[in-house]
Amino acid sequence: MELTRTDRKTFSANQRAGAKSRNAAMKKTRIASRPAAKTSKPRNSKRVIVIDPGHGGIDPGAISRKGLKEKDIVFAFSKTLRDKLKKTERYEVFMTRSVDSYIALRKRVDLGRGKGADLFISLHADSLPGKFASRVSGATVYTLSEEASDEEAKDLAAKENRSDIIAGIALPAQSDDVTNILIDLAQRETNNLSIGFANALLASLSGKTKFSKKSRRYAGFRVLKAPDVPSVLLELGYMSNRDDVKRFKSQAWRKRVADGVAKAVDSYFAKRTVRNPY
Ligand code: ZN
Repeated sequence: MELTRTDRKTFSANQRAGAKSRNAAMKKTRIASRPAAKTSKPRNSKRVIVIDPGHGGIDPGAISRKGLKEKDIVFAFSKTLRDKLKKTERYEVFMTRSVDSYIALRKRVDLGRGKGADLFISLHADSLPGKFASRVSGATVYTLSEEASDEEAKDLAAKENRSDIIAGIALPAQSDDVTNILIDLAQRETNNLSIGFANALLASLSGKTKFSKKSRRYAGFRVLKAPDVPSVLLELGYMSNRDDVKRFKSQAWRKRVADGVAKAVDSYFAKRTVRNPY
């Protein structure tokens, strides 16, 4: 993980004050964990949502038997979702890519942070080989975990994280221990919020699309690693499954599922306003 601007500030502030105790670090990280833009935003300003259509450009993502590409499926869905959220006039909505272009995973995270995102939603579609292709289908909601919840989740995270390697981008060097601790602490708070949104997502998508057998999972997706932006990755289904691909191609399905995601966004923020009205 790379040093982030806020955490770097927090880190040097800590050094200056000599406040090296875990407690002090935690307090500062709490402040740092809020997106920088939030403090300057007026109270009633719109929540910022960043939608992240996976893959793009030279990285097609998973490919269906008939040649349909994940990057195109998730892009079409992202646009429907963006329009839906914008229409409510309650949110400022950005996408990490607005065309079919390659964007490094780290850049996607940076973009979310740069926009002061209150929520980051990454969209993908999975794929499984051979005999699993016909048997495994449906959507899965992921939040970040260093330890994947199961082997399949681990494989998938490795697959998605490979995106940067495809484009020849070197992985960033490990940051130092203190920074890692600060990031860990901020991450924990953010992770709780991410879990809250993941739950809202499962609830509001219920009945709107098919879920996979284990529809709530955890894995180390690089794109979910902003320490201060609640982030969720939604695998819409499987490019390797014929029924899922049929769904992906349906505009009615897209609209219905985008509507479910938008409702989850609404209920997530409705809850947050009551609990933490800053
Ligand atoms: Zn993907």
